[in-house]
Amino acid sequence: MAERLQKIMAKAGVASRRKSEEIILAGRVKVNGQVVTELGTKIKVSDEVQVDGLPINKEAPVYYLLYKPRRIITSVSDEKNRKTVLDFFEDVEQRIYPVGRLDYDTSGLLLMTNDGDLDNRLTHPKYEVEKTYVAKVEGIPTNDELKQLRLGVKINGKKTAPAKTNVLETDNGKKTAVVQLTIHEGKNHEVKNMFKAIGHPVKKLKRESFAFLNLKGLQPGDYRPLKKFEVEKLY
Ligand code: URA
Repeated sequence: MAERLQKIMAKAGVASRRKSEEIILAGRVKVNGQVVTELGTKIKVSDEVQVDGLPINKEAPVYYLLYKPRRIITSVSDEKNRKTVLDFFEDVEQRIYPVGRLDYDTSGLLLMTNDGDLDNRLTHPKYEVEKTYVAKVEGIPTNDELKQLRLGVKINGKKTAPAKTNVLETDNGKKTAVVQLTIHEGKNHEVKNMFKAIGHPVKKLKRESFAFLNLKGLQPGDYRPLKKFEVEKLY
């Protein structure tokens, strides 16, 4: 099946489709040894595509949903030799990588793929993918504090986008609460920083859903391939 050159480039993780178009127009792309500057040129699997003289990776795209356990690095390698999310995929031949990241001590849903196009879309703030977290926090947030989260709190001088909150449990004896928080941004440590901003540091964090996907049927460390309709729905 032939596909447009900029789509092939985006899938290979060269850049987003728009950026790939700029790269094509700049004359940096060769197909079978010939410079191609026409957008929308159709490419077959057998065609050799080079960007700046280097062949791009055209392996078939694959998509997995991992239930990341705590104490695992969201990275494809670690200089301290700690276990990474890639270690769960020893049987997968393709060069997959995580879509976004979860902190070392955060568990939950993480997508892994080699499809750079989907990665770009899902991590770009403009697509506003909803992510739901369950946080065990110190102290019991008041209604006013939860309202601050819903309206947005200031982190490093910038206001977070409105969030949804839902208190699942409170423990008056231990002075802790379990709060479900849904956000669509993905800044570093965002959930922890949001709770810190209202005076309730996170003790434990799990991501229970990403867009329409959840962890149903999986245990920490398990993964499953996405179904075709799920991939189509994410696009
Ligand atoms: N927000 C955080 O603070 N940590 C995560 O791992 C994910 C979102």
